[in-house]
Amino acid sequence: MEYTIIGFPRIGENRELKKVTESYWKKEISKEDYISLVNCQMNNQLKKENEYDLCQIPVLDFSLYDMVLDTIVLLDAIPEEYKKLNLDELDTYFSLGRGYQGELGDVRALTMKKWFNTNYHYMVPELYDDTVFKLNFNNVSNKIKEALKVSQNIRPEVIGPFTFLKLSKYKGNKTINDYISNIVLVYKDYLKEINKIHTGWIQIDEPYLVKDLSKDDIKLFINIYKELLKDKKNKVLLQTYFGDVRDIYEELINLDFDGIGLDFIEGKKTLELLNKYGFKENKVLFAGVINGKNIWVSNYKEKIELINSIKKVTNNIILQTSCSLLHVPYTVKNETKLSKDILKNFSFAYEKINELKELSELIDVDYLNDIRYINNQNIIKERECNYDISLKEKINSLTDSDFRRKENRKERQDIQRKVLKQNLLPTTTIGSFPQTLEVKTNRSLYKRGIITLDEYNNNIKKFISKCIKEQEEIGLDVLVHGEFERNDMVEYFGENLDGFIFTSNGWVQSYGTRGVKPPVVFSDIKRSKPFTVPYIVYANSLTKKDVKGMLTGPVTILNWSFPREDISIKEEMYQIALALQEEVLDLEKADVRIIQIDEAALREKLPLRKEDWYKDYLDFAIKAFRLTNSKVKPETQIHTHMCYSEFEDIIKAIDDMDADVITFEASRSQFTILDELKKNKFETEVGPGVYDIHSPRVPTVDEIKSEIRIMLNKIDINNLWINPDCGLKTRGIKETNQSLINLVKATNEIKQELC
Ligand code: GLN
Ligand code: ZN
Repeated sequence: MEYTIIGFPRIGENRELKKVTESYWKKEISKEDYISLVNCQMNNQLKKENEYDLCQIPVLDFSLYDMVLDTIVLLDAIPEEYKKLNLDELDTYFSLGRGYQGELGDVRALTMKKWFNTNYHYMVPELYDDTVFKLNFNNVSNKIKEALKVSQNIRPEVIGPFTFLKLSKYKGNKTINDYISNIVLVYKDYLKEINKIHTGWIQIDEPYLVKDLSKDDIKLFINIYKELLKDKKNKVLLQTYFGDVRDIYEELINLDFDGIGLDFIEGKKTLELLNKYGFKENKVLFAGVINGKNIWVSNYKEKIELINSIKKVTNNIILQTSCSLLHVPYTVKNETKLSKDILKNFSFAYEKINELKELSELIDVDYLNDIRYINNQNIIKERECNYDISLKEKINSLTDSDFRRKENRKERQDIQRKVLKQNLLPTTTIGSFPQTLEVKTNRSLYKRGIITLDEYNNNIKKFISKCIKEQEEIGLDVLVHGEFERNDMVEYFGENLDGFIFTSNGWVQSYGTRGVKPPVVFSDIKRSKPFTVPYIVYANSLTKKDVKGMLTGPVTILNWSFPREDISIKEEMYQIALALQEEVLDLEKADVRIIQIDEAALREKLPLRKEDWYKDYLDFAIKAFRLTNSKVKPETQIHTHMCYSEFEDIIKAIDDMDADVITFEASRSQFTILDELKKNKFETEVGPGVYDIHSPRVPTVDEIKSEIRIMLNKIDINNLWINPDCGLKTRGIKETNQSLINLVKATNEIKQELC
């Protein structure tokens, strides 16, 4: 059986692409050197992939910044403001990705959005009324020619017109239908040009097909491809991933594709669709049977069973990963600090290709006696025995009351008002204060063993004490300790709870040249001792005002980690929640009267299909949050924070988290969100950010006042908090202090106007 992959990571095994690209931006290397270095990296990459005997090697997945951005340039859908800069092709490309500020002008970057249900971010195409697509083939043709030097078995890939148009932002009066005929022509041109230099397979990605599709969407897709495939000369693979194509399967197999790529991992219904509607003899099924997103060794027994059930429907199969390997690190071989016993459970990008290779061989032999199969099954079995039974039982015996605070919201609010004596329009911040060079140096000196733990902690105390003093001078009502002991809101919790491990080189691209190194949930999560308590208690001892306890919530911790697969996501979230519950109760015991539990990433793993939102995710995610604080006294005020305000569609679920106060980003879409809050009779007290912390700009008192006035029109004054829209750790001290001074001044002036 043959096998292939959908795409490969590109930041480089040791983040080489990141490094050369950033040096190019800093003008440390010339354009010529840059281009030849990246070509060399691309070729080395291809050579390595080539060693694994893939039947086809995807090319053009090696993007310098983002694959959607590549498509924007390929279609020449470059907004005027970037064209006007008159930069050359490469620099125009980067100006779209990161903005440009220089002699030639000043333009912002295109906006970024999360790529389906991953933590990768793509650049959002902007279509204007005067946008006319035309093929800009130069770069693609160069890349293909380079790749052909390495192998003839290449398969150029591109994002398809349907997904491209569905992901675009329409900036004028025109709508999607106005662009169809134009875009189809350009893709036809693309096929024609490709055929001049490459006659084998090509791949067109249409991941949007795994989302909920309307009748119009289906019609649109069919119209596009009927026309597009008319005089194709290459074999065309239509690639899908991140789910199943239940809304369009029947139509899809009747279109003139030569191959169709389906996801058997996240596509819950893929096998069912295949059984129900069959497949076409003249087409190749590219079967995504190896998870392209997780980092665990696959269970060969399950995989072979899966492949055998697919074979009952069609024999014309090429095995592949369920999605591009972009979402996993390069190789386990680069992990030198973890033990063999841990590492044998891992499978990163190269190891996943090897799994495909082994499976393709095993499927045709007496695999039960094959050593590769036996070894694999031993690893899987060993992991399965790895539970803490008592924790499992504890989770199984949780009942409704474990997920609910005893007093309802109103009762709690009355009690909290009496005990906490909060002002009208209380002012606060989201948690972190600027991570200055001093703060970072303290951490790195400690990590390198140059200072002792005591010295490290004494420095943290100094930072906290300065931060409390500043907040008092500014006149904020509810204070924070500043989070100087934290590098990252998830990593810090991973390091302090049992059950997580950290890789040394497990980088995954997040956007552009940025990577993240997610913690790995390796075993049951527990807390062995309080860890945030000492810092908060210290901060509280310095002031008469309340300092918020500051925790990261279970959903966010899990969403930004690689989860286990031997137990469910729900069980993992509950484990984290129980561990955090202990921390919450310890904070309460230490007289911390306000505790914030951040759920910055709650929305990130929302299933792609609406019908799955609650049962596959929100039902237990919301309960996990509630579990962290269900046992606190009514007078303890629970806050939460989210880094976005796109929760119009899940507003009931957010209210159902049953926090006392929620702060969130409001700068961009505030008018709609405030209306929605009102319409849905949102009960949680709210602090929609009054200014955007993502920019160094200091908001004026008048600007903040006008924000507050808008909010007061829509939100009951007794339920409104005044705060920035996110943590301040990426900002400088000076702008932070001035912004907060203005925030307090604006709030006070509004209060005066009111009485
Ligand atoms: N408490 C965190 C902070 O202020 C929240 C960060 C976030 O929402 N991303 O940094
Ligand atoms: Zn935030």
